[in-house]
Amino acid sequence: MGDGKIRLDSDIQFLKGVGPVRAAKLSRVGIKNVGDILFHFPFRYEDRSIVTPIESLSEGETFTINGEIVSTKTQKGRYGKSRFQLSVKDKTGIMSCLWFSVRGDWHSKKYKQGLTVLATGKVSFSNYQKCFEMTHPDISVLDDNGTDTASGGIKPVYPLTEGINQKVMRGIVLKAVEIAEKVKETLPAPILKRHSFPQRDAAVRFIHLPDEGDGTEKVNSFRSPAHLRMIYEEFFLMETAMAVQRSRNTEKIKGVNVKVRRDIIPEILLAFPFKLTSDQRNVLNEMAKDLEAEQPMNRLLQGDVGCGKTAVALIAMLLAVADRHQAAIMAPTEILAEQHYNTILKLKTSFPIKPALLVAGMRKKEKDKVLAKIASGEINLVAGTHALIQQGVEFKNLGVAIIDEQHRFGVKQRAELISKGEKPNTLIMTATPIPRTLAMTIYSDLDISIIKTMPKGRGSVKTEVIRPNDTQKAYLRIHREIEKGRQAYVIYPLVEESEKSELKAATKMYENFREKIFPHLKLGLVHGRMKPEEKNSVMHAFMKREIDILVSTTVVEVGIDQPNATVMMVEHAERFGLAQLHQLRGRVGRGGEKSYCLLAVGYRLSAIARERLKVMTQTRDGFLIAEKDLELRGTGDLFGIRQSGLPTFRVANLLRDFDLLKLAKDEAFALVAKDPELKLPENRPLRDELERSWRDRFELADIG
Ligand code: ADP
Ligand code: MG
Repeated sequence: MGDGKIRLDSDIQFLKGVGPVRAAKLSRVGIKNVGDILFHFPFRYEDRSIVTPIESLSEGETFTINGEIVSTKTQKGRYGKSRFQLSVKDKTGIMSCLWFSVRGDWHSKKYKQGLTVLATGKVSFSNYQKCFEMTHPDISVLDDNGTDTASGGIKPVYPLTEGINQKVMRGIVLKAVEIAEKVKETLPAPILKRHSFPQRDAAVRFIHLPDEGDGTEKVNSFRSPAHLRMIYEEFFLMETAMAVQRSRNTEKIKGVNVKVRRDIIPEILLAFPFKLTSDQRNVLNEMAKDLEAEQPMNRLLQGDVGCGKTAVALIAMLLAVADRHQAAIMAPTEILAEQHYNTILKLKTSFPIKPALLVAGMRKKEKDKVLAKIASGEINLVAGTHALIQQGVEFKNLGVAIIDEQHRFGVKQRAELISKGEKPNTLIMTATPIPRTLAMTIYSDLDISIIKTMPKGRGSVKTEVIRPNDTQKAYLRIHREIEKGRQAYVIYPLVEESEKSELKAATKMYENFREKIFPHLKLGLVHGRMKPEEKNSVMHAFMKREIDILVSTTVVEVGIDQPNATVMMVEHAERFGLAQLHQLRGRVGRGGEKSYCLLAVGYRLSAIARERLKVMTQTRDGFLIAEKDLELRGTGDLFGIRQSGLPTFRVANLLRDFDLLKLAKDEAFALVAKDPELKLPENRPLRDELERSWRDRFELADIG
């Protein structure tokens, strides 16, 4: 295929220099067509014109040095691969450059002794060479005049994928930039004009090929007009999608009306073994208003782990049932669904409640019976898992639908639950404590309630960082608590539950515990690779206090409520993000007893890991932790963001760009107020883009 024929939606393999092998690698990071790579933006820029003397290098950062190659060495390895090393010298010292798994002799042919080069890369200290070292650096060979024969100036640095290095990635992007003019505008002209934003095609080109004159500072802080425009665009698209959704919700949809029987509220409250906190009460009032309004309730309930969201949700469910509707709560795991079910079973009310549990692991006969009774309306309170949204589940009159731990569900699944009724009232619950202002902007299609205070009578949690030499101390602590009749969690991190090697490490630790460290105690192991039944039976045993120490991967993170557990030990705590650590710690300190959170770490910690641990020892306030988390997270840590259920952005950063977010929100809502379905010609491109990129949210609105 000739280049003239390449389009934005052409398969990436047809771009010059790519081909099927690289295309497969790129597809792993979501790059499928030429347009995708144009929007694969650099997360950083390097300025090659800033050269650092070798003696001034420091570990862990990226530098460019300028020197002469004084020696090279090729070491043959297995499978035709070799290791190539060279030494570069400037007036102040010597540095080593190292390449692993090199195929062929490309390196040794190109990088010959005597050449002057620029080397750019992340610097570490080589204990072997006894000097600074760059692994797989970028090398530019300079000609006699000292000018970069390739290209100099500001260089973009891209997120990579296995098998594609920086140089190759840059080359591919540059090829795609040749057709950047085909990128279509999405923002309405008045907005571009108001903010003097560059056109979309020009912005994309600039982001990959910034002007040399500007220096790196402006592009590195993402404050060039091109960056500002793309950041604004990301926020604006999201906010417009939400504004459209919101206007559809509030204007046209009439939902199920639940008549709140105020007379029975006191009775419902008495059904719980505690008095509601004032925050819980406020949420209850907000919900009661929603239930009675014409439009269905569409509320997000935010509250830190353990603040008592379930009670509030159950009250909403009971209010629906008291008015002869059905109510359902969907949780991400069977254990959680059962937990909710058991709580419901304990409730005593004067009006008839008929609860049921609906999970995948049920026997068919039993399940069919439950399904029939849900369809006939005989069962009016259901706690369940994904099983709730399967085909064949039909409600007679679903009045309230609750989604627990919303970040574990996709937008689709939420929509599916909602579609089981005639526009039921929905309450979505999340334990991600994000600051209210931020919540209001990223969930602007929902009303928001927040529970800030914890119920009284919670024991304190002492958080300690455990150095490798202190492990015995930590084990002793676990011992003491178990002697007192308490239970403990030990968490092992699995970044990828599918990683066999990590799973092995977790299992090995468990065996070591069982055989050597705690041979006289009862231990259980759960991980994501176990069959659901096996996992459930271990979890049950823990809930019934038949297990003293539960060794687990992060599957316990969500919602488990065992107040008798007083120790949470986290292995390799430095590998976890703040949000996760906070969630894990939330599993203890639920009863009145004093609890312990032991964060075991390795010897060498990055500055960021140290900072995280410090935050953990200093506060238990989820909102503070969340703020700190946003602050510490680089744009690179998308995994962490996904974990917390926040939307992911390409260029935008919620903390750094919060002002732009607010601006985009106001302007999006203003635009939708004037043109609710984006029918005006000037808004047409915007609508097209939204249908492409925010389809899920749009679909949500169209269901039912
Ligand atoms: P989360 O918000 O994390 O879902 P839960 O709803 O599981 O929290 O509540 C945690 C624990 O606190 C439960 O054992 C629950 O019974 C208890 N609880 C909830 N509200 C109160 C309250 N107002 N006073 C005392 N205990 C409460
Ligand atoms: Mg919960």
